[in-house]
Amino acid sequence: MVYEPVIGMEVHVELSTASKMFCGCSARAFGTPPNTHVCPVCLGMPGTLPVINEQAVRYTVMTGLALNCAIQEHNVFARKNYFYPDLPKGYQISQYELPLCKAGFLEIEVDETFTGEGSGGTRSVGIRRVHLEEDTGKLTHVDGHSLVDFNRAGVPLMEIVSEADIRSAAEAYTFVTQLRQIVRYLGVSSGDMEKGAMRCEVNLSLRPAGSDEFGTKVEVKNLNSFRSVRNAIDYEIKRQTRLLEAGQPVVQVTMGWDEATGVTREQRSKEEAHDYRYFPEPDLPPLSLEPAWIEGVKASLSELPQAKRDRFMTEYGLSRYDAGVLVEDPAIADYFERALQVAGDAISPKSLANWVTGELFRLINEIGITIGDVKVRPEDLVALLKMLSAGAINQTAAKKAFSEMWETGRPPQEIIQERGLRQISDASQLAGVVAEVIGDNPDAVASFREGKDTIIRFMIGQVMKATRGKANPQLVERLLREQLQPDD
Ligand SMILES: [Zn+2]
Repeated sequence: MVYEPVIGMEVHVELSTASKMFCGCSARAFGTPPNTHVCPVCLGMPGTLPVINEQAVRYTVMTGLALNCAIQEHNVFARKNYFYPDLPKGYQISQYELPLCKAGFLEIEVDETFTGEGSGGTRSVGIRRVHLEEDTGKLTHVDGHSLVDFNRAGVPLMEIVSEADIRSAAEAYTFVTQLRQIVRYLGVSSGDMEKGAMRCEVNLSLRPAGSDEFGTKVEVKNLNSFRSVRNAIDYEIKRQTRLLEAGQPVVQVTMGWDEATGVTREQRSKEEAHDYRYFPEPDLPPLSLEPAWIEGVKASLSELPQAKRDRFMTEYGLSRYDAGVLVEDPAIADYFERALQVAGDAISPKSLANWVTGELFRLINEIGITIGDVKVRPEDLVALLKMLSAGAINQTAAKKAFSEMWETGRPPQEIIQERGLRQISDASQLAGVVAEVIGDNPDAVASFREGKDTIIRFMIGQVMKATRGKANPQLVERLLREQLQPDD
């Protein structure tokens, strides 16, 4: 039998607010000395009272709007009771029946090879809810002891819950990468999975293909990288398929993904919502959002990745692929547009895009830095490309100059002057070298005359070598052809 996976995702996103969710402690917990960002409120001391962080509410509403959600004007925080040593109060303040945002969707880009629908376009994944809660502390286990660090306790945490609309590991992967891109665009979170700023859980069940029934679902936690999202889903699909084919039931459990061994392991039997004894948080009043405030947040939203990509295609005539690559990181899209502004009509968007996605990306990836650390200013890149298109330098020299601009951040004019990278476009300077190359390569000349036209590339190469890459290749080709013409 063919089984269809039914997948829903829960994604926790740490919000990059300055302070924690309910107190004034710094929310920048990662990499700080243990228990230095704590106070009586986030340590859960008796008699302390929480105060709602407005910025965290704003960030969650921004995300909800970007995910096409309805924003709830009437909100209630809820107490989720459970005991764990990293949870100082013995409960987490979360939202239960009345989340900030609900009933949205995210259009994910799907490869038609996965859907088999031949659309190659987008598929809509429902967003059930987006709510706000607080993060827990962190346990470290050393030599049979457990140490607890509460710096992270109380950091604003946004939870995004999808509908079970995802049908493959590839779609789940796309869903979380697009989600990360959106939170980065909005500036509400770093989205860094390796630093725990984004953490995923997956609910997965199988059903016979074509059926509308739901199978028994298994929850998989500890998905701390995009790769583990994909690997864990593939693994679970195989594990559940084996069980079902052997006529054994799938048990509803919570599994943890073990990245090192590539298997899911049972952690505990799944809690039901009633195990948490949710009730409205008595220490906080209900939160009412004014419609005007929501409208204000809506008006402040910056352009989102898909809209930017579509604009790059129509406004600059870029391919879907090029536009997609450029808008991946909003800072790179900005860099590209700043350069384009300086360039005016002098450089085509396509050739600028080629340099950004080519040379610039190559070096960025090689060294592993972000565009913010790049020393080449957009106006200098444009100056270089102008010299290239005017024929003052050739492609080889442009790349040489570019790598020095990358190292030093100096303007291209200076580098080209100093290194003597200007192209030789003077026929009288090149005629001698051309004649020499013809004289030194009788075999090549013979085969050219026998009609093997492609040998001209070899001879151009020889001239380029003799001029240390400075000759104008188009001019060299013309001179070669002229001199190779039989005298008649
Ligand atoms: Zn605190």
